[in-house]
Amino acid sequence: TPIRSANGNISDSKGKSANIAETVQRARDAFNRGVTRPVEWRRKQLQNLLRMYKENQQAMIDALREDLRRSKMEAILLEVDYLINDLTNTLHSLDEWVKPEKPSKPLVNILDEVVIYNDPYGLALVIGAWNYPLQLLLLPMAGAIAAGNAVVVKPSEVAVACARFVAEMLPKYLDNDAIVVVEGGAEETTLLLKEKFDYIFYTGSTSVGKIVYEAATKYLTPVTLELGGKSPVYIDSSADLEVTAKRILWGKFINSGQTCIAPDYILCSKEIQDKFVEASKKVLKSWYGEDPQKSPDLSRIINSRHFSRLQAVLDANKSKVVIGGSYDPKDKFIAPTILANVAPSDKIMEDEIFGPLLPIVPVADAYEAIKFINERPLPLVLYVFSKQRSIQKLFTEQTRSGSVGINDTIMFYGVETLPFGGVGNSGIGAYHGKKTFDTFTHKKSCLIKNFNPIGEKLASGRYPPYTEGNLKF
Ligand code: NAD
Repeated sequence: TPIRSANGNISDSKGKSANIAETVQRARDAFNRGVTRPVEWRRKQLQNLLRMYKENQQAMIDALREDLRRSKMEAILLEVDYLINDLTNTLHSLDEWVKPEKPSKPLVNILDEVVIYNDPYGLALVIGAWNYPLQLLLLPMAGAIAAGNAVVVKPSEVAVACARFVAEMLPKYLDNDAIVVVEGGAEETTLLLKEKFDYIFYTGSTSVGKIVYEAATKYLTPVTLELGGKSPVYIDSSADLEVTAKRILWGKFINSGQTCIAPDYILCSKEIQDKFVEASKKVLKSWYGEDPQKSPDLSRIINSRHFSRLQAVLDANKSKVVIGGSYDPKDKFIAPTILANVAPSDKIMEDEIFGPLLPIVPVADAYEAIKFINERPLPLVLYVFSKQRSIQKLFTEQTRSGSVGINDTIMFYGVETLPFGGVGNSGIGAYHGKKTFDTFTHKKSCLIKNFNPIGEKLASGRYPPYTEGNLKF
């Protein structure tokens, strides 16, 4: 794989390591020269990035189509517009966010200044995933720039067209020394992780997240790890099942289930299961027609490796399929599929599904569902569908997860005042809105004293020789 740095250098495999080291060093030098600190520089870069989004909307839509056969609507809604809105908000708030903070101070410091400076960490590394290949890479990158860092960005090699777009476009719009792209997969990322960074922001699987975390310990580099896992849904009998079906199925089948916050599986009673399946049949038919493969609105599976993985899961649980179940390897197409009466020991319940397969595991009641959830790794999101406040409260208070969505899926992700991130196996740290800026910012505390003789006299009790009379117990 060629590695293309922002100034257009391309190296063969032999020079990979040296090229990566040289590229990282160039970005670090830019930070050390103070290039990235001035707010005017940050604003200029972010304005250029916004222009890049606006001038290349069609190219972004085309790249997402090439990689995932993403529909135009989903490309705009979930990536292009999402990035534009986030950046517009950041530009609007930047002056406010960068201001040094003046926290309250105790009486003893009444004559002093107490300040928290919003300091950039230095050189940040942002590693993206393939499922939302633009949004998950460029949004944290913009946050790192807003906070005054130099950045190395590593797009996922799995989304080939989007990685190409990023590598070709960023150098045309952004500072070529302070913001650099390194292309490549596991080999190149392994080389990158040998370098020293001041912050690492990684999105992807939990297993690679552990590799990144381990690499970060070498230089005690702080990290954000945006990982995955099986996000459960609980439906109780008070939920409006028609609306519930629409909200769950939309969250599951956008991008053909290749969404980190997609509902992974449903827990509900057998009675609700049957009603949910009936409601789902109608919804899916009205959305995707008799033959979903002909629908223009369903994405394809990213590559044949992931297709084979999903096919094996589906084949192993074929007898449980109640809706869908068909697939076409040539087209990397899998029909929206629902499986009922799934047992906890079935293959589909082993790992995060990350595809258009939705299993339902019957449980007796909310307590059994909570026990089920609490026996497993902490999920990225937990979804609850119920009109009853007491049930909503029961789940939010008695389970742990990165976020909770009540009576809807996915939509919480778009609320910029809600920090987004996992907990335990689903990740470390969070971002979105101001939290993205804060993630790439070191809060540097500072006490500023003066030489006022009154202040000196008031604090003189700290000097030897110590007299107990000066201590107040
Ligand atoms: P991926 O295969 O694109 O990998 C992610 C990144 O890690 C890529 O840039 C890749 O080049 C790099 N990488 C892969 N193997 C590596 C290795 N051995 N050493 C170093 N780097 C390596 O994406 P993925 O991991 O398949 O992504 C899917 C997972 O990501 C799912 O579990 C999903 O839930 C999770 N995810 C989480 C979020 C979130 O925001 N929390 C968002 C999207 C995806």
